[in-house]
Amino acid sequence: MDFNAIEHLKTLICRLPGDEQMRARSAFSPAASLLVMEEVFWKLGGKMMGGDALRQALEERGRVASAQPPPTAKCPRCGKPSRFHRCRERKLESTVGQVSYRRPEYLCTRCKTVAPLDAELGVKAGEKRSPRLAEAVDRLAKDIPYEDAVEEVQRWTGCRPSHSTARR
Ligand SMILES: [Zn+2]
Repeated sequence: MDFNAIEHLKTLICRLPGDEQMRARSAFSPAASLLVMEEVFWKLGGKMMGGDALRQALEERGRVASAQPPPTAKCPRCGKPSRFHRCRERKLESTVGQVSYRRPEYLCTRCKTVAPLDAELGVKAGEKRSPRLAEAVDRLAKDIPYEDAVEEVQRWTGCRPSHSTARR
């Protein structure tokens, strides 16, 4: 990609209100959660450029995590040592459409398969939606039927989480 969406979005931080700039900066840190990245990139770049930036950032996080995964890691769930199993792609529906990243999976004797990068990004096991998409749908679904909440989020974000992938 010749055009670097992340670098471009960084130049837009100064246009945000002062109290939002610190959170916006944290979205570009190498340990940012998916929720903060998706929220900030959407705010700065909308669905298209924000989406490009999010895909680019996740690809980089996955590349770094999968390059030389340590043979053992602390289980993000129970804290016990777990051993490296394999690297695998994780796909999620988000408010910018589908995103994915490659990450190492570890085997914990207690928790079975765990992925430290999922935990770092704030992505729950078995969840097919990004935290931001899940939050948007779940908040609305408190007041209206679940299917209507999915439709409403689609209308405002332009993404299409199918009912099956959006459902918990
Ligand atoms: Zn564990």
